[in-house]
Amino acid sequence: MFEKIKKSKKFDLLMELKKNGIVDRSVLNIIESADRSFFVDENLKQKSNLNIALPIDCGQTISQPLVVAHMTQSLELNKNLRALEIGTGSGYQSYILSKLCRFVYTIERYNSLKKKAENLLRQLGTKNIFFKHADGGLGWKEQAPFDRILVTANAPEIPHNLLKQLANKGIMIIPIGDDYNEQVLKKIIKNDNDIKIENLMKVRFVPLVEGKENQ
Ligand code: SAH
Repeated sequence: MFEKIKKSKKFDLLMELKKNGIVDRSVLNIIESADRSFFVDENLKQKSNLNIALPIDCGQTISQPLVVAHMTQSLELNKNLRALEIGTGSGYQSYILSKLCRFVYTIERYNSLKKKAENLLRQLGTKNIFFKHADGGLGWKEQAPFDRILVTANAPEIPHNLLKQLANKGIMIIPIGDDYNEQVLKKIIKNDNDIKIENLMKVRFVPLVEGKENQ
């Protein structure tokens, strides 16, 4: 019974994504096949196919599926690319990226979230994701430059270190805003010394916070 409800909810979710501008088949396919219930606590599993953000440990959230789909579609991924993600959280977005690009480097400031996501993604059999417990605002210098950078926490402005670590012709997706109510998802395209910035949609992310937590 539960499986049946889950399947019809997934169908509704995919319809909602299509209605709201998600046209990339590879993005729709991966969202269809990835089971978001693995990435949330037992008591929230029934809500995992709803188009809503859900709480995870350490007062953080797993993003709304429509926002995950938009960010992923806007990254224009392919299997030759290396992507950096800031804010591993539950690991759901890292999993989606890992299916659509070559390597994913993901950074989380909470050690417990990093460990939990790393264990889960190993169990799910992913082999192309590298995890780091650090302040993601500093990027991952040893592995730079990155073809794609995705920041899944809100920043007041584009972090200088991340822009430096974006490859030429690279794309960065990042929510920018002063507070929780005024955030816009931006697409940044680097072209030699030129930076093009497009506004994608209004969003609500937890803040990008400096430093790391040992918790
Ligand atoms: N991509 C995640 C969304 C997590 S919410 C998912 O799919 O579940 C944003 C995450 O960014 C939180 O886990 C938060 O702890 C983390 N974060 C915030 N500031 C950070 C920073 N400076 N460096 C690394 N991670 C950060």
